[in-house]
Formats: sequence, C-alpha cells, structure tokens
Amino acid sequence: MENIVVTGVQGLPLIRAGDNIAAMICERVAVENGDIVSLASTVYSKSKGYTKPLTEITPSERALRLAKLNGEDPRFVQAVLDASQDIIMEHPFILSELPFGHIGVRAGVDQSNIDDGMVIFLPPDPMKAAADVRNEIKTITGKNVGVIITDTCGRSFRRGQTGNAIGWSGFTAIRDFRGDTDLFGHELKITEEAVVDEIAGFANFVMGESNNGVPAVLFRNCPSWTGHDSLYFTKDEDITRRLLKKTCPS
Ligand code: GDP
Ligand code: MN
Ligand code: MN
Repeated sequence: MENIVVTGVQGLPLIRAGDNIAAMICERVAVENGDIVSLASTVYSKSKGYTKPLTEITPSERALRLAKLNGEDPRFVQAVLDASQDIIMEHPFILSELPFGHIGVRAGVDQSNIDDGMVIFLPPDPMKAAADVRNEIKTITGKNVGVIITDTCGRSFRRGQTGNAIGWSGFTAIRDFRGDTDLFGHELKITEEAVVDEIAGFANFVMGESNNGVPAVLFRNCPSWTGHDSLYFTKDEDITRRLLKKTCPS
C-alpha cells in the first residue's frame, strides 16, 4: 500500500453565498481518481447561503426560557430550535436531533468564522451536499473523487471535540469487518468501523478551528473498503439518546 498523502487546500478566500466551492477547490489542487475531499460544513453552508442574521430571528417562549437557563442569546437559541427536529437535552446546553439524523450540540449552529451577528446552519441535506460537490468535481475535472462534509462535534465520555462526517458520497460510511478473520483466525462478529468519521477527524485536525483558513483537505492513496451507510443508530438502538430524552420535558 502506498503512503496516504494528506493535503490542506491553501489559499481559499472567505466564502460568500453563490461561490462554487467545488470549482474553487479544483483551481487550487489537481485532484486524481480515488482522492477523498473533506470539506467543512461551515464553508459549504456559507456558499449556499444557509446563514441568517440574528436580527431576523424572533425568539419563542421556549427559546426565551432556554436562553435564560443556559445563559445564551435567545435569538441564537431560536436558531438552534429551528434547526432541530427533536430536542434530546435542554441543559446545560441544547442537544438535538436534526432532520437528517445527526445528533449534535446546539444543532451544529455556529457563530464562528462568519460576520458578527450571523449564524451558520448545517446544510439541511448533507448527503446531497456531498453528492453535489462530487458531481461538480467530476464535471470540472473528469475525475472520480469521494467527498465528505465535516463538522466539529463534541462527544460523550471524553473531553475535546473531533471532526465528524455529516455527509458523504463515493463510498460507504462504515467499513464492515463482520465475517472477516483476525490474525489468529477468529471471526470478527461486531466490528464495524466508522471510516468516514476517522477521515473527517483527521481532516478536522488539518483544518483547525480558528483562523487557519483551510476548509478543505485532500486525501490521496486511501485504501478502498466496503460496508454500509447506516451510520446513525435507530431510536431503538440508541441507549444514550433514550436515557437523555427521559430528562427532557416536551
Ligand atoms: P466547521 O468545523 O465546519 O464548523 O468549520 P470551522 O469554523 O471550524 O472551520 C474549519 C476550517 O475552515 C478552519 O480552518 C477555518 O479557518 C476555515 N474556514 C472557515 N470559513 C472559511 C472561509 O470562508 N474561507 C476559508 N478560506 N476558510 C474558512
Ligand atoms: Mn461547526
Ligand atoms: Mn471546526
């Protein structure tokens, strides 16, 4: 196997609504067949205008209550509620499920890397976002790449945020090892590796969180894998969700 080469895409400007992010990436790096492009959801959302000024948001009663409870701007809390399909936990921060299946702190709504007083929403359909970027790159370059849309997320049990995949295209989310045998011939019965999150995690490391200005990362020579796309637990499977939900009114 060749070495995996990881390259941050340098020199991208501040992204504005209407920008063709795929074209901007292709102008700066020469993609090859089999490459994987990881793209921060923040810049995809900015390019599509999934943003809003706080001044255009009127907080509901619930937003006012939760803003007081958590010490946040009620308009920001309303943005979080608007992005959420189901609130799993209200305090000390809102944890919610988005319509596309992701569960995240404050519904992934960001106020960083955008002008003061603006919020950025996660793309409403990140799987389509990844497929669109992949198709656009194919149209521009003729090359077949995989695409991951990432967001920086908190996690249970451990301190520190990591990059997660919220959308992907060109491969499966999970590499399924079940039925494979280990070095000693034991059959693996449980192991499903969330490959897209592992790649998103390393991409996030290259991007950084602040003023690095690197929202896209290219991976070359990754091995291929097979598996499936059921990355999110169903409601019945998700023990953490069930227990947290018990603590939540409504
Ligand atoms: P998120 O993880 O998707 O919420 O995005 P972050 O705000 O953490 O940003 C990820 C990376 O993209 C960081 O290196 C940021 O500096 C960079 N970034 C964010 N917005 C822009 C932009 O408009 N242009 C460029 N060039 N980089 C950006
Ligand atoms: Mn984010
Ligand atoms: Mn980030």
